[in-house]
Amino acid sequence: MILENGVIRTLDASLPVTRALAIAGESVVGSVGTHETMLASPEVVDLGGRCVVPGFTDAHVHFLQWSLAQRQVRLEGTRSLEEAVAVVGSAVGEAQPGRWIRGTGWRSGEWEPAVEPTKEALDAVTGETPVAMMAKDGHSLWLNSAALAAADGDLQVPGGVVEVDGDGEPTGVLREESAWEFRRRFVFAQIQEDERLDAMREGLRVAVSRGVTSVHDKDGWLGDLRLFQRLRAEGMLTVRVWQSLPHEFLDSLETLDFSAGLGDAVLRAGYLKAFMDGTLGSRTARMLDGTGVEITSREELEEIVRRAARIGWPVAVHAIGDRANRDALDAFEATRAEWAPRGLRPRIEHAQCLAPDDLPRFSQLGVAASVQFSHATSDRDLADRFWPDKAAGAYAFRSLWESGCVVANGSDAPIEELDPLAGIRAGVLRTIDERSAWHPEQALTVEQALEATCVTPAWLSGDERRRGKLLPGYLADLVVLSSDPVEDLAGCEVVATMVGGRWLFNPPPWG
Ligand SMILES: [Zn+2]
Repeated sequence: MILENGVIRTLDASLPVTRALAIAGESVVGSVGTHETMLASPEVVDLGGRCVVPGFTDAHVHFLQWSLAQRQVRLEGTRSLEEAVAVVGSAVGEAQPGRWIRGTGWRSGEWEPAVEPTKEALDAVTGETPVAMMAKDGHSLWLNSAALAAADGDLQVPGGVVEVDGDGEPTGVLREESAWEFRRRFVFAQIQEDERLDAMREGLRVAVSRGVTSVHDKDGWLGDLRLFQRLRAEGMLTVRVWQSLPHEFLDSLETLDFSAGLGDAVLRAGYLKAFMDGTLGSRTARMLDGTGVEITSREELEEIVRRAARIGWPVAVHAIGDRANRDALDAFEATRAEWAPRGLRPRIEHAQCLAPDDLPRFSQLGVAASVQFSHATSDRDLADRFWPDKAAGAYAFRSLWESGCVVANGSDAPIEELDPLAGIRAGVLRTIDERSAWHPEQALTVEQALEATCVTPAWLSGDERRRGKLLPGYLADLVVLSSDPVEDLAGCEVVATMVGGRWLFNPPPWG
């Protein structure tokens, strides 16, 4: 197949832009028309001046949670506690009695007046229907009394926070490990396997329509590896998956001597996930001033990285606050002799708030920053409020890039929408509304944002010679865009998506 008459961005410095691309089977075989005559009777696709880029990888997705969230009560954009409660109330009216109401997206920091939610606020509209509403950042869970009753007072776990009122009674808000443990035991436990798979099938359709050809999944703890295998067996797994598993699985992986990367070009288990701290929005990010919640200590992370390295697994660790990032960098530094000679590619997820001294350490150590360009534009008000003196190292994507650090971009869906073009716009424009750019000195170029969305995620999964660029021998994973994003970032849209040489979204011809 020949794609011709367009702008093809290979994302390789040797030949950044070509006019045509030849594809045979699942791979790219050449560019600029040199191969047309070598193919017996090639199918020619007229791009009509459109642009082709390598398929997008979302380097941080909670695929199951995002798929399920598409069907849940959504509280994004609510401007007050009353408004959020009203949205929940109308959902209760439509629900079957006794069934749990699940939802996500609230952010108390954006409410006017500024208040924390309570179980009483929900009880007023929910009655006996149990309700569990996850915060937008995924680190706080807001419950009503009917939901709390399920735990029968058993709410406190190590690394967790149970918010209590003046009488020592739970307010209905759980944070960090307490929120996650509750969700695992009572919320996810209600969702049957068929419902999960059904949501993921729909999620895959949406992902491909947005140009996603590959994801780094973070929901290994929820059984995504098993679910993706089932979808694979059905022939429904249309995007490539680099699967993380929780570090709590280390014992089993050691026993099995299970190597990272086991799998194939579509589905592989590849890295371990750990958490250092909480988040900005939940005020649980671990800061150098001593505030925040520690989920994993520096010493514990060292042990995890050492054990993982010995059986060949790289570690991805969530770190938001400047203290959490320093501890994570210290742990990777202390264990470098274990992971570096094995060629492992460790990463810090989010890297949101960095002490300026720590910024160059990513590239010095060889630790990648797996960031979310859209978090900068979504978090700008909270960051200005809670981190007013941290601007030099907060969401400092350009500084990280210029320090030589490997920067990969993801959405953290469902926290942001799984939509790579939206992420690229956020990274370049540093604004998603009518306001001017937030810290424009940290903006990336379109080419850099594309590289962080196509090339570096492929490097992180060890695929740098197979994917992420449109070069001969590389897998034909690509996106057709309505226009060239370098010329028209605001206007360009996904027209079609190809994975492994097959059109999986909107095959040509296009009108
Ligand atoms: Zn995440």
